[in-house]
Amino acid sequence: MSELSDLYQEVILDHNKNPRNFREIPDAEKKAVGNNPLCGDALQVFVAMDGDTITDVAFKGSGCAISKASASMMTQTAKGKTREEVETLFAEFQRMVRGEMDEEAEENHLGRLKIFAGVREFPARVKCASLSWHTLHAALKGDEAVTTE
Ligand code: ZN
Repeated sequence: MSELSDLYQEVILDHNKNPRNFREIPDAEKKAVGNNPLCGDALQVFVAMDGDTITDVAFKGSGCAISKASASMMTQTAKGKTREEVETLFAEFQRMVRGEMDEEAEENHLGRLKIFAGVREFPARVKCASLSWHTLHAALKGDEAVTTE
């Protein structure tokens, strides 16, 4: 991890060691399984909705530090947002980690998620960082499983 900034390392290590919302939601209305075979990350995302608003979101599973930290921060970010707001964030996150967005110059809603911008330098890590977002997106669409390609 020597190639990563100190702040990035600190946040990733904290969320990996102590992931937020790391639990199941019994009777979750929406849930999906996400797999990133390239790295071996396997996550399950649970979503509780009230109308169009995400009232609770949680995850379980195993994976590398980046996938777990990203899932942890995804749950913190998505909670309380509408489906539309989450889809906007998903699109922005994707563009950021693929290097298709200048997140400092362009208006966006990423906030603390900008910490993951550095993964664009490491193509194999892009899928680790975006797995939980793909899985949330699949759950909201009603798909039960998603695999990063
Ligand atoms: Zn990974």
